[in-house]
Amino acid sequence: MNTAPAQLQASELLLVPEQAMLRDGPVTDCAVVVAKGAFADVGPRAQVQQRHPHLKAVELPGRALMPGFVDAHHHLTQSFGKSLAYGEPSEIFRRVWVPLEASLDDAFLHDAGKLAALESLRGGFTTVCDAGTRAKGDIASLADATREAGLRCVLGLVCNDGGNESTAQERRAVLDRAAGHLARFEGDRLVHASLAISVPEAASDDVLKAVSSMCRDASAIFQTHVNEHLASVERSIVARGRRPLELLGDLGALGPQMLIAHGALLTACEIRLLADTGTGVSYNPVASQWKGNAVAPAYLFREFGVRFGLGTDATRSDAFRLMDAAEAAQKIAYSLQAGDASAGGGWTWFDHASFGGADVAGIGHLTGEIAVGKRADFLLVDVDTPEMCTTFDTTWDLVRIANRDQIEAVYVDGVMRLWQGWPVDWDARSLMRKVRERAHTAVANAPIQRLHLPAAQDRLRVKQERRA
Ligand SMILES: [Zn+2]
Repeated sequence: MNTAPAQLQASELLLVPEQAMLRDGPVTDCAVVVAKGAFADVGPRAQVQQRHPHLKAVELPGRALMPGFVDAHHHLTQSFGKSLAYGEPSEIFRRVWVPLEASLDDAFLHDAGKLAALESLRGGFTTVCDAGTRAKGDIASLADATREAGLRCVLGLVCNDGGNESTAQERRAVLDRAAGHLARFEGDRLVHASLAISVPEAASDDVLKAVSSMCRDASAIFQTHVNEHLASVERSIVARGRRPLELLGDLGALGPQMLIAHGALLTACEIRLLADTGTGVSYNPVASQWKGNAVAPAYLFREFGVRFGLGTDATRSDAFRLMDAAEAAQKIAYSLQAGDASAGGGWTWFDHASFGGADVAGIGHLTGEIAVGKRADFLLVDVDTPEMCTTFDTTWDLVRIANRDQIEAVYVDGVMRLWQGWPVDWDARSLMRKVRERAHTAVANAPIQRLHLPAAQDRLRVKQERRA
């Protein structure tokens, strides 16, 4: 546990940071009032202080107050095994994640989920959108884990019925569970229910249509992995005669309630389909870097009005490095060839990591910006560092220069959750010890198939081959 200054943990706060990152960019001489878990006032310091004479201003020189970031695509229960994915070709879910998640019990699900939630908070994410775990057992243990860590979570329940060969009974069972999940978290401050189908062809047409309309009616988000790898696109064509996104389009399942993960392999028609239907996308640049075939055309998304956020896909929960990767991947995959040195002007990646992510996660009315009425999900970031003290462009610095060690405090729903990287109200070190032990046993016992050697063994292999 970590002791933070009491004045920063009061239930009502009047904060005066050196800079506040508002929707139109950084502003100075700004004050922010937090009360009842929300931003109660934001504006020029003198006026805000006048409106709240009972509050003592907390001066924050050298600090930027900014919205907490939104991870638009995560798998909290896979995070502990992320280093198993290094060097692996696509379709890791078949060889690693499905066997691994199937071996997890409720207690481990909770602990691994809580550790992943801590990683997210440390990386500056105040919300994650979880695309659903394949682990058996009650998803409530994962909800408890994120709630205890203090992370806002859009929690997907996997609703696969296996495809068009499923029976009417199987379909009914899946949809009953889905309805129960949507009702279960009503009124929860931090957990927001969502439905998920791993990939479109993992469900029947009926269930795809039903899940989409249930989400539409419940103002929830329907998450699925779409057009990520060549293998997955081709599998969909073989099974259903359509590419994954086309299949969803044909069924009328697309719309603002839909959040597709990846969208890395898109035709021009498909980009138009996304824009026309208001479908959201999670652009996952680190997933492309680590295990993808392609990079989603996110800069085109911005220009053509496709709604999108940035997601980690359980790779690395560091929002600053994610923004950096988002820009770098666009630049290398698209902008360099066009002689475009800007590649989104820096702000594109900041906006879509915060505001845009909240929008596609279906909670844009709650979070994603420092604005009156929004829940107080925010970060205090030390910008008075050797790297940034001479800045001429704070927004772009945050994308290219900043890192998570500069995050001094993380607040979710108006409550300080981390101070200098560590929880203020629970013991992270004992959880780490517990998960470390269990993770190694789980990996040793699960029938996973790794195709790539760990780095040190790979080095040895290369040396031996050269000698031979
Ligand atoms: Zn994923």
